[in-house]
Amino acid sequence: MNWEAVIGIECHVELKTQTKMFCGCPNEFGAEPNTNVCPVCLGMPGALPVPNRVAIEHMVRAGLAFGAEIPAFSKFDRKNYFYPDMPKDYQISQFDMPLTSGGEVKYWLDDGTMKSCRLTRIHLEEDTGKSSHAGSGDGRIAGSEYSLVDFNRAGVPLMECVSEPEIRSSQDAVAYLTSLRETLLQLDVSDVKMEEGSLRCDANVSIRPVGATELGTKTEIKNMNSFRSVQRAIDSEIRRQIETVEAGGRVVQETRGWDEARGETHTMRSKEEAHDYRYFPDPDLVPMELQGDDIDRLRSSLAELPWQRFQRLTGEYGLNVKQAGQLIDNARLAEYFDRVVTASRNPQQSTNFVLGDLSRLANESGVAVADSKASPDDVAELIAMVDAKTINSKIAKTLVERMWKGDGSPKAIVEREGLSQTSDPGAVETFVDDVLAANPNIVAEYRAGKTNVAGFLVGQIMKASRGKADPALVNTVLKRKLE
Ligand SMILES: [Zn+2]
Repeated sequence: MNWEAVIGIECHVELKTQTKMFCGCPNEFGAEPNTNVCPVCLGMPGALPVPNRVAIEHMVRAGLAFGAEIPAFSKFDRKNYFYPDMPKDYQISQFDMPLTSGGEVKYWLDDGTMKSCRLTRIHLEEDTGKSSHAGSGDGRIAGSEYSLVDFNRAGVPLMECVSEPEIRSSQDAVAYLTSLRETLLQLDVSDVKMEEGSLRCDANVSIRPVGATELGTKTEIKNMNSFRSVQRAIDSEIRRQIETVEAGGRVVQETRGWDEARGETHTMRSKEEAHDYRYFPDPDLVPMELQGDDIDRLRSSLAELPWQRFQRLTGEYGLNVKQAGQLIDNARLAEYFDRVVTASRNPQQSTNFVLGDLSRLANESGVAVADSKASPDDVAELIAMVDAKTINSKIAKTLVERMWKGDGSPKAIVEREGLSQTSDPGAVETFVDDVLAANPNIVAEYRAGKTNVAGFLVGQIMKASRGKADPALVNTVLKRKLE
């Protein structure tokens, strides 16, 4: 039987703010345990929460970027939660009236196809503290001697982004996450670092016969620490479910952990607890009423989104997916590239110079292209000189390196050092004649049928002209003289 996978992704994203969601404690990663805490985030009696305006604006901007609706009213609810990493026994979250509703994440695949996956919801909540268990060897609570709790993370603003089960493969899941991550980076609402826990994701996976419309029993995979582990974990879980069903068994609804070293998922909680969070509106927080003006202001602060940039770069400018990906990964390089294209009106050559020569120099020197001494206008001037055949491509490469070092504009360097391309047929003919006269044996070899020696002669002629001869003209003249 042919099976298809049905995948939904749940992401928790810590928002980038100076302070926590409901108090003035710093929102920072890596501080000494339990140093960024106060009566509010520890849930001491009588402490009152005050919402963080920046976090709410981040949420609205993210919602707008994903095409979600921003309802005029929304509210905070208490979600009863009985774990030791949340000392007040509830988490402030959103239940039936979240800050945004609906929306979709548009993403692109390696072959350039655009896809989209709808969002069920994005809501705002506070993060919990972090427990660690010692003495068991593998960090799990089972068999541990004691547990430690760090409340620094408790109360950090957390965006929860839940997708519909519309993803069909692990590659699509990674493409979805990439687009989501790039968008949040572009909006500057989160660091989205998986290794620091500011982006955490779980995948819901089920399988069904191709063509079926009903959903199969799903499992939830946790503990994936990189996009690569997301891809491997989903693939491994799809395989496991197919093998289970084809062997006559059935998939059990459960939470499974991903074991990176063994490359397989394992049961974490076999019985799905009946989640009864008993939500109720938080009596300490008044409902939020968003003004149209505020939403318009936030909407106008959105720059070009990664998927829009992808479409422009591949569609309008003809870049391939890899090149477009390089520019989407690096907003400052993309901005630089745009300035070069605007000034030169030559996307193809702009791509060659920015992603080729300049990016190579950036890698070698550790200086970003955008911080280099080669300005976008200078690069555009260089492209214009190549287009006009004032210089050949070999000289152009040398000029890029000179511009990088700060030797001035390409025009200035060429004028100063007489590097203009020699397109004068008489001059080129002289170079050719000299080289032919100096290499009678090679000429004889060529005439005897060994035509590949022409390359050597071209090299000698270019050298004689100090690299300035027009290569196309050299080839034409040489061919005429040899035959
Ligand atoms: Zn606090």
